[in-house]
Amino acid sequence: MEKLSNFIDGASVPPVDGNYIDNYEPATGMVYSLIPNSNEKDVNNAVAAAKKAFPVWSSLSIEERGRCLMRVADGIRRRMDEFVAAESRDNGKPLSLAAHVDIPRAISNFEFFATGIQHFASESHYMEGVGVNYTLRKPIGIVGCISPWNLPLYLFSWKIAPALAAGNCVIAKPSEVTPYTAYLLSEIIKESGMPDGVLNILHGLGGTVGDAIVKHPQIKAISFTGGTSTGEYIARTAAPMFKKLSLELGGKNPNIIFADCDFDEMLKVTLRSSFANQGQICLCGSRIFIERPIYEKFKAAFVDKVSKMKVSFPSDPDARMGALVSKPHLEKVLSYVELAKQEGGTVLTGGEKETLAAPYSNGYYLRPTVIEGLAYDCRTNQEEIFGPVVTITPFDTEEEVLMMANSVKYGLSATLWTSNLQRAHRVADKVDAGIVWINEWLVRDLRTPFGGVKASGVGREGGWEALRFFTEPKNVFIRY
Ligand code: NAD
Repeated sequence: MEKLSNFIDGASVPPVDGNYIDNYEPATGMVYSLIPNSNEKDVNNAVAAAKKAFPVWSSLSIEERGRCLMRVADGIRRRMDEFVAAESRDNGKPLSLAAHVDIPRAISNFEFFATGIQHFASESHYMEGVGVNYTLRKPIGIVGCISPWNLPLYLFSWKIAPALAAGNCVIAKPSEVTPYTAYLLSEIIKESGMPDGVLNILHGLGGTVGDAIVKHPQIKAISFTGGTSTGEYIARTAAPMFKKLSLELGGKNPNIIFADCDFDEMLKVTLRSSFANQGQICLCGSRIFIERPIYEKFKAAFVDKVSKMKVSFPSDPDARMGALVSKPHLEKVLSYVELAKQEGGTVLTGGEKETLAAPYSNGYYLRPTVIEGLAYDCRTNQEEIFGPVVTITPFDTEEEVLMMANSVKYGLSATLWTSNLQRAHRVADKVDAGIVWINEWLVRDLRTPFGGVKASGVGREGGWEALRFFTEPKNVFIRY
């Protein structure tokens, strides 16, 4: 069976203690590779390599660093098919999604920050007759990047590209559930001519190697994307060490549908915003609120379409949904369907596993699920499920829907459907969210701030926000 390795100081190396963990294929439920179960010894080695590399990398010109990141993007593009197949196999997502979203976006992340850094001008402020203030943007040094399993290379590269562009050396850890494309990336890094030790990739469990990254005194900043409870733990651990933190956490996003919307367009996009990537996108709209005059019409049309969605193995070109990422995750999602029933909900479609023929009969497949009849403040409507399960709830007034939408502890994104311009702006202004889409879902412009409010996170990624996070400002004043 294939054994993956860590990538430290430009070399593929086994974990110091020689321990490995099973890596499962969600489509079949079979173990298909072994990944290093790294620990603090591996982190120490990676930090030593990064420390050595920092003076070299940080003193390259931004053009040279940019060209290096462009070569990484080109390297992924050259091996596109291999990356797409690996992402789909590791995560369970349909091949078409990996081909059209995940891997192209990983390429754009490198390209965007390779050029973006060249426009990241330092600010200056002239004090009339007195002098000038200007602000240097210095790399932080060694930074840690920890990413989740739902969009593996997409989110891994979303962190490491700006960190590297800004001149930092990086210790990066992909999710132990989806390590494969980060492993492939290490081959591309080597070929790109990036100096050894600039990017180090460690595999293993969050509570072991992830924790060691968070606790290492020479890692000065942590960029983390994952669950809210993990984010809380990281914040508690890192705070006494005064580490800079960027936390992109969970969501329980409202999809608010007013009766005056373009119904057909809304229906088409709502199918995606509910079930894309098996509902495992932090931005999925898992709570759908529908204005009462169109509630029954929406319910009938939505349930009809959802019940016909094809759940299949990831390489099936007709699959609308693939497998969930892991057995424990499938069980967690199913437990929420049971909870919803106990809380008085009615499952209108789905709610059960989809069983496919061999060799996929032990894969982690779940029918897309629609539930109605729940109170807005029950656990099913308050807690993040992170799977293909949505609730539908009618509303009568703007005030009522805003109250329900804002009742959760999260505030990541919101989607609004209406043709009333003033209402669109009014609700966008009042809904608790870091990102609002009006008559659309998941359009991402890499220049714009990305992140959430409340328990959905601290700080923002994207564009200048990411480059600001990965640099330390130093103000200099010179008197005339
Ligand atoms: P998770 O928190 O379990 O794990 C995320 C990463 O953190 C993994 O690499 C994991 O190994 C590591 N980790 C776990 N415990 C750790 C610890 N104690 N110290 C350091 N690292 C640790 O999350 P997950 O299950 O991989 O991902 C799903 C979650 O991610 C959902 O809550 C989802 O909403 C969230 N998410 C948020 C965004 C966003 O941008 N806001 C994007 C994608 C996913």
